[in-house]
Amino acid sequence: MKLKDRVAIVTGGASGIGKAISERFAREGAGVVICDVDLKSAQEISDRLKEKDVNSKAFEVDVSDSSQVERVVNNIVEEFKRIDILVNNAGISKDSLLIRTDPSDWDRIIAVNLKGAFNFIKSTARVMMRQKYGRILNITSVVGIMGNAGQSSYAASKAGLVGLTKSTAKELASRGITVNAVAPGYIRTPMTENLSQAVKEGYLSSIPLGKTGTPQQVANLVLFLASEEADYITGQVIQIDGGLLM
Ligand code: NAP
Repeated sequence: MKLKDRVAIVTGGASGIGKAISERFAREGAGVVICDVDLKSAQEISDRLKEKDVNSKAFEVDVSDSSQVERVVNNIVEEFKRIDILVNNAGISKDSLLIRTDPSDWDRIIAVNLKGAFNFIKSTARVMMRQKYGRILNITSVVGIMGNAGQSSYAASKAGLVGLTKSTAKELASRGITVNAVAPGYIRTPMTENLSQAVKEGYLSSIPLGKTGTPQQVANLVLFLASEEADYITGQVIQIDGGLLM
């Protein structure tokens, strides 16, 4: 049990990678709080965890809304008494070439993917600082490192997460809090399901291991970084991409 008695928040925990992280953390003994805009799915996952005696709760929250985040974090602290792990996983994408990108789509992608992580770190850091313990994981993307035609807004939001990770890692290190980013490549989830066949094939031909990754493989890496075993790792961006970017 790598996370026994720890309390973890997973944003976007109702689907794909976030769901796999929530289930993996639960198997390692953590209390799991799932925060998602999709309350119905979050609730179903949380209920299934509770059937297995996991301390779990689902909250409906739009991560981009700082007052909603503050309110939910206060509720979590009241109910769970502590917050040990925060996984900023909620994210959206809407692909278009930059010259065709609607400014409102740019704003929304930055608000969810980047400001959402800022909101949750700001609200949970004071709790972790009091505890003198915390693990913050930001789910970025290899696209934030290498760029990708048709994904300038998404790539900018994910590159922003790298700067956020490194700066907060420096600010919070003296309080026993580590902050790292995980950068997946092409992982099979609802987010990537709708890519065209041509884009899927283009990705696959660039992956040396020759296959897509699974949410469970990402969850295994996040689990390690969230555990006490990773206590000398902070400010890092760890890729999990089958060799796509090296
Ligand atoms: P996903 O299956 O679409 O899951 C994302 C979850 O976040 C969904 O439940 C979604 O709800 C929720 N969400 C969206 N906007 C939100 C908001 N404003 N507030 C709270 N929750 C919100 O996507 P995924 O593929 O698992 O991706 C998870 C993370 O990994 C994302 O940050 C993504 O950018 C990153 N990532 C994914 C890949 C990949 O290949 N899949 C690669 C690199 C990085 P709705 O479904 O209702 O919108």
